[in-house]
Formats: sequence, C-alpha cells, structure tokens
Amino acid sequence: MSRLVGRVAVVTGAASGIGLAASGRFAAEGAFVVMADRDRVGLDAAIANEGERTRLISITADVTSMADLAVLRDHVAAKHKKVDVLFGNAGIATFAPLGDVSEEAFDRTVAINFKGTFFTVQTLLPVMHDGASIILTSSLVATKTVPSFSVYSATKAALTSLARSFALDLKDRGIRVNTVAPGHIETAIGRNAGLSQREIHDYLRQTAGGTPLGRNGPAEDIAAAALFLASEESAFVTGVEISVDGGFRL
Ligand code: NAD
Repeated sequence: MSRLVGRVAVVTGAASGIGLAASGRFAAEGAFVVMADRDRVGLDAAIANEGERTRLISITADVTSMADLAVLRDHVAAKHKKVDVLFGNAGIATFAPLGDVSEEAFDRTVAINFKGTFFTVQTLLPVMHDGASIILTSSLVATKTVPSFSVYSATKAALTSLARSFALDLKDRGIRVNTVAPGHIETAIGRNAGLSQREIHDYLRQTAGGTPLGRNGPAEDIAAAALFLASEESAFVTGVEISVDGGFRL
C-alpha cells in the first residue's frame, strides 16, 4: 500500500461519496491529500471518520468561485509546493425532462460540472509537477443516453472532451489527463439533487437490475480506478476514459 508515497493529491468534491473514498484511498497509499469541497460541515465530519487523517487536510472551496480556487492553489503552493495528482471530481446531478429544465438549473449544472472543473485544472496548473496526473470524473451518461438527464450528460461529455484536449495541451510537461466514468454508484448524489428516500430507493433498485453485473457500485470502486490513474501503474496512459459501471453502458 505505497503507490503514492511522498505524493501530494488535491481532490475536489472530497466531503462525500467518490471524492471522499478517493481521498481515503490515496492517503492509505501514502499520499498527502488536500480535500476541497464547498461543504465545510461535511469535510469536518469526513476527516473525523477517516483512519488516515494525519495525511488529510481540508480546504473549503467552491469550484465555481475563482477566488476560492486561487486560495486552494495558494495554500498548496505555501504548504506543499507542488501537486502530483489532481482529481477534479466535484459535481452535482440534475434531472428534468427537456421542457422542464429551468435556466437556473442549466446554469448551475454547467457552472459546477463543466466550468468549475475547467477552472480547477487551469488554476492549479502552475503548482502542478511536470509528470503529474489529472483525473476528471465524467459519467457513463457521457456516452449512454438516459431520459431526463440532458444537461447533466452534456456537462459530463464535455469533461470527457476536455480531458482529451488537456492531454495534448499538457503533453510537453508530461502531465497525463484521463477520466473515470462511473456507472450507478451509491452516494449522496441523489439526496443532494433533492430526490426523496423513496425515489432514491426505487431508482437504485432499477439501475442495479439493469446493470449486467447485477448491482450498483460503491464509491470505493471508483476510488480504485482513480488510484490506478493517479499512480505510476498508468504511466503510459493519457487521454482515455475508464468506465467503472458494471457494464451498464453496454
Ligand atoms: P456526492 O453528492 O456524494 O459528492 C459530491 C461532492 O461534491 C459533495 O461533497 C459536494 O459538496 C461537492 N460539491 C458539489 N458542488 C460543489 C462545488 N461547487 N464546489 C465544491 N464542491 C462541490 O456525489 P458523488 O456521487 O460522490 O459525485 C462525485 C462525482 O461523481 C460527481 O462529479 C458526479 O457527477 C460523478 N458521478 C457520480 C455518479 C453516481 O452514480 N454517484 C455517477 C457518475 C458520475
């Protein structure tokens, strides 16, 4: 368990779900992890429950705020000098049929998932080591169409596209850029999107039934793929998307 010894990782959306699981996994592999999230209470609770908390530090940062991203960058520069791994993972889900999508929901989804991820990478670039690894969280819906998910899916397809473009833009610095595309993962994302417990239960039962491997995934399955992309084991991998979806996209 030493694949990231001596490395510094920044994880956005780290207070919950996939980002939290990845933070714990990176720390367990020896990394020092800067956990960034807009949810201060969630960050405090997450760190209190983590076994590797001596290697975790949290920063309150909303990825839609250029000022917050600059604070995150300056913190990293002051405390750690350079970043080896950036997991741009913060995101929200929004669901609505085409006719019901409000301008506010459209703007919020694009601002967090697409624009926020773009500027997270751009802002942190000056403090990234040459040879670093950037991982973005896309989604199976970037490629597989699901009803009432148009705006969310488009933001995730945008991230898949960005990662490929960044991989070329950053090749001269040896920075690798890849995406992980989760399938249905049991996290707080449904609750954070305003769904009721009943709706979440019914939705997850349906998605588990429709997944070839017969279940939804835990956040740890995505953390494992992120760890591969973060570590030297993927040293010759750039510009790809790794699907971790139990075969749901098939
Ligand atoms: P989650 O709701 O458990 O965690 C998301 C985290 O992002 C939360 O801690 C939240 O506070 C944070 N966040 C939201 N907006 C933010 C902002 N503006 N600035 C900073 N932090 C912000 O959900 P999750 O399932 O862990 O989602 C993580 C990523 O995985 C998201 O990008 C999501 O789109 C993607 N994803 C999830 C699934 C799934 O089934 N759960 C599937 C495909 C992709």
